[in-house]
Amino acid sequence: MKIAIIGGGVGGLTAAIALTRRGIDVEVFEQAAALEPVGASLQIGPNAMRLLADMGLLPALRTVGVRPDAVDFVRWDDGSLLLHTALGEEAESYFGAPQLDFFRPDLHRVLAEALPPDVLRFDTRIERVEQDDSGATLITSGRERISADAAVAADGINSRIRRQLVGGDDPVFSNTVVYRGVVPRAAVKRLHPDRLNIYWLGPYRHGVAYWIAGGNLLAINCAVQDAEWSQESWTLEASPAEPIEAFAGWHPPLLERMRHVTTSLRGAVFVRRPLEHWTFGRVTLLGDAAHAMEPFQAQGAAQAVEDSYVLAECLASSDVESALRAYEQIRMARAEELQDSSATAANVFYLPDGAEQRARDARYATLLEDLPWGTRQPIWEYDVRDALASASA
Ligand SMILES: Cc1cc2nc3c(=O)[nH]c(=O)nc-3n(C[C@H](O)[C@H](O)[C@H](O)COP(=O)(O)OP(=O)(O)OC[C@H]3O[C@@H](n4cnc5c(N)ncnc54)[C@H](O)[C@@H]3O)c2cc1C
Repeated sequence: MKIAIIGGGVGGLTAAIALTRRGIDVEVFEQAAALEPVGASLQIGPNAMRLLADMGLLPALRTVGVRPDAVDFVRWDDGSLLLHTALGEEAESYFGAPQLDFFRPDLHRVLAEALPPDVLRFDTRIERVEQDDSGATLITSGRERISADAAVAADGINSRIRRQLVGGDDPVFSNTVVYRGVVPRAAVKRLHPDRLNIYWLGPYRHGVAYWIAGGNLLAINCAVQDAEWSQESWTLEASPAEPIEAFAGWHPPLLERMRHVTTSLRGAVFVRRPLEHWTFGRVTLLGDAAHAMEPFQAQGAAQAVEDSYVLAECLASSDVESALRAYEQIRMARAEELQDSSATAANVFYLPDGAEQRARDARYATLLEDLPWGTRQPIWEYDVRDALASASA
């Protein structure tokens, strides 16, 4: 069996690793000329890290990721503590894997290096996919035709293949714009405690800071809810002064961290509406192409990892078309649930001061009695291997 994967992001690379480990022949086609050396940060929760560990990747990921020992939610104006969740060693043994926080290029590099040589082909843009009863054919922008038994579209939120399969359901603006920066350790080591993730929650905005790149960089991400910006197109860089203005009046230690950012990446956050199907014969969708979601549960890439694991297990144990149908059946409800919960989390983070905010803070004050590992505990407890086991029972 040979599987062709379109897109070499977290989803495409992880799917290729998972399939290779199941003895399935795979090729990944990435339009970029090389792995991007620049980028921002992302957190990978224990639900995905367990699967990456199963694929043998945890030792390499630990060398570049940072495991937070705690997460603090604090108030936007005075930094007073709303919720302190201890993570670290105990959480790692409870969940069977840690949360690790990454500089995105580090994560991509570790995933790419885990693949056998010649699996990942750069500089190859796939224009469309054709299929018949016996296989799928990828057509590149250079008119090359590449045959495989099935094609996996892991081509991100603006997926061409999704458009080809489903029609014109474009990404939807989520009313949030995110500024992301990274600062070298030397500049901020006095300001930010090691292994602590801090979220400042406030009216229509939030800021978050955490260590990445083995503790050598501090990620500082700030999100602003503002529908008017939907007019704007995606812009790669913004003046670092722009988010500082947007956070005027916020807790001075957050602003102090923000002032060290020299390159601020600005992105409008788009999401995808849930589909009725991800699988169309011998072609299926994976990752953001299937279910791009808001970043407030830090689960977009984690869900691409869950997809990848299930896809490989299904293809290893069944014929192509049944396997791709089983894959969507096991995955769609979970991904949709996280799309919903990610959107809801934004509304909880962004409450302006008032009755609803006070009710939220009161809930946080007793939350650890029910959820000792914090608000994301139920998401992290879910193990896709249980879903696979019950699907095959
Ligand atoms: C602000 C923000 C913060 C986030 N934070 C987190 C977080 O903390 N944790 C988390 O789990 N998730 C997070 N996410 C979500 C996460 O970034 C995405 O869900 C994840 O990157 C999706 O991976 P993917 O492989 O599906 O798509 P992508 O990473 O977009 O990769 C798609 C790849 O396909 C390639 N491609 C596209 N079209 C073609 C084509 N036609 N031919 C060949 N190649 C093509 C692209 O060049 C790209 O390399 C965040 C998202 C945002 C916006």
